[in-house]
Amino acid sequence: MSPIANWVREILCCPTCKGELTGSLDGDETELVCATCQVAYPVTDGILVLLAADARPLK
Ligand SMILES: [Zn+2]
Repeated sequence: MSPIANWVREILCCPTCKGELTGSLDGDETELVCATCQVAYPVTDGILVLLAADARPLK
């Protein structure tokens, strides 16, 4: 069961590049990824944190 509904995910975009956010939310996955910026935005206590300062670099 995804903690984020599909309609919410559809309106989400990267705060940096305004691109689409992707990423599996299956199991323990709690991040949404921007492939353009190569960063992951965390989901903390069910709340997506769309702050560039809190983004985790993927590499
Ligand atoms: Zn981005």
